[in-house]
Amino acid sequence: MTNNNNSMQPIFIMPESTQRTTGKSAQRNNIMAARLVGEAVRTTLGPKGMDKMIVDGMGDVTVTNDGVTILEEMHIEHPAAKMMVEIAKTQEQEIGDGTTTAVVIAGELLKQAEELLDKNVHPTIIARGYRTASEKALEILNKMAENITENDTDLLTKAATTAITGKGAETAKEKLGEIAVKAVRAVLEKNENTFTFNKENIKIEKKTGGSVDDTELIEGIVLEKEAVHPSMPKLVHNAKIALIDTAVEIRDTEIDAKIQITDPSQMQSFLDQEDRMLQTMVDRIVKSGANVVFCQKGIDDIAQHHLAKKGIFAARRVKKSDMEALSRATGARVVCNLVDLTHEDLGNAGIVRETKIGDEELTYVMNCKNPKSVTVLVRGGTNHIADEAKRALTDAIGDVAASIMCKKIVAGAGSSEMELSKQLHTYAAGLSGREQLAVEAFAKSLEVIPRTLAENAGMDPINVLTEMKAAHDSGKKWAGIDVFTGKVIDALKEGVIEPLKIKTQAVSSASEVAQMILRIDDVILGGKQQAPQMSQGY
Ligand code: ADP
Ligand code: MG
Repeated sequence: MTNNNNSMQPIFIMPESTQRTTGKSAQRNNIMAARLVGEAVRTTLGPKGMDKMIVDGMGDVTVTNDGVTILEEMHIEHPAAKMMVEIAKTQEQEIGDGTTTAVVIAGELLKQAEELLDKNVHPTIIARGYRTASEKALEILNKMAENITENDTDLLTKAATTAITGKGAETAKEKLGEIAVKAVRAVLEKNENTFTFNKENIKIEKKTGGSVDDTELIEGIVLEKEAVHPSMPKLVHNAKIALIDTAVEIRDTEIDAKIQITDPSQMQSFLDQEDRMLQTMVDRIVKSGANVVFCQKGIDDIAQHHLAKKGIFAARRVKKSDMEALSRATGARVVCNLVDLTHEDLGNAGIVRETKIGDEELTYVMNCKNPKSVTVLVRGGTNHIADEAKRALTDAIGDVAASIMCKKIVAGAGSSEMELSKQLHTYAAGLSGREQLAVEAFAKSLEVIPRTLAENAGMDPINVLTEMKAAHDSGKKWAGIDVFTGKVIDALKEGVIEPLKIKTQAVSSASEVAQMILRIDDVILGGKQQAPQMSQGY
């Protein structure tokens, strides 16, 4: 070094608090962190998977085997591990089910990639190979899938029960499966050959008490509300429903007003005046022909009294989202000003009924003619059971909807992954060099699903996998594992059915994240930034 002393000084291009890891160690760190996420949920996969108990900072307990719920509750911080959590979240948004599968596949892709890294295959070559493999995988999956239509009640119900098998709600899986199919069909909108499905239109309410078998589907809405006045009717047939987004009250004056009253008669006339104004409001409701009122704001005591006298059912402070759902289900228009309320704004429902479940009062708005919104009231002996039943039902609903929307299903129990793996191996044989190694690694990674299903069921994975492979080689594409007997079965015939989209989404997002993590060779952890100071004067 002949330069002057200055060049010997370390040069800082980033704040001193920044931590940086580069090259191989950055890569291995990331892979390890991501694989740990996969390992964390692996034991929960499949009907024989175990549950996890997660206790949060407030001491609240969640017992679940739902991949995305576990990962969300774990509050993962490592940046690469967080990317794995994102896979589960995408899967949850797109379908609802298959979150564990997606994360486990991604973990295995990285594990296999590590072995190639050890053999000095460059990460970008692995990433490229994974990309090729995943494109081919989607093609293969599409080809091997079976067709399904919205009228295949039997297959759709099986897709729903497959999602529920092994969850806490399993004992009621037939019932929940049926409900999932009915609920999806009720809100599904068909235009020519395509469907639109909005999961917001199926409201899932949870009520502790009874058992999961008491879960019911209501073709309409269930509100956590009761009539505001005890002498209002508890049951209204042929309901004409007004939805009001304004208070049925006399507003307080905005500025403090002082009214000087000099003798008691003035006081009386002041109160009479108020009474008359409220009476006018109620008259407007009566005139529209409504016999049921849902108000997003408050209803004054005196107005309540007048409404009750007219035999009108009224509930107040209804949530905005419930108002919207009511509007969809009954066809009512939300009115912001009582002066505008007319007969045309009213919606219809066969029955509005107030009921008590457990110690809570609920209002059912049901038998709507064309309920674009339905409610499932999930029951469970304890809060934790009801919660897990709700998660299982959400998965089932997602699977039924995805099956109808993409019109294709595959069989589960590890069969589709095994078949995909087999066909990818064949494809890899036609490639050459290092790319071939990567595609083979990808194909091998998919075996993690049947292997894990077997392991979680307490079987010897090597035996089961060998037997399964033999079945696939002899052309049985739906050969999967019966996790209850340990035998190799035809998963399609046995009714272990999943929407094609679970698999295509899981494979493509797992592959994308694996590629992304492989391409990173520099991790820069910025120091915690201080919140910028707001300048006073702008
Ligand atoms: P995920 O979050 O990925 O949906 P699950 O714990 O729900 O995880 O497990 C799904 C896996 O269990 C799928 O591979 C599915 O095919 C398999 N599976 C579901 N029911 C059965 C069954 N009756 N026999 C064998 N495998 C099953
Ligand atoms: Mg599932």
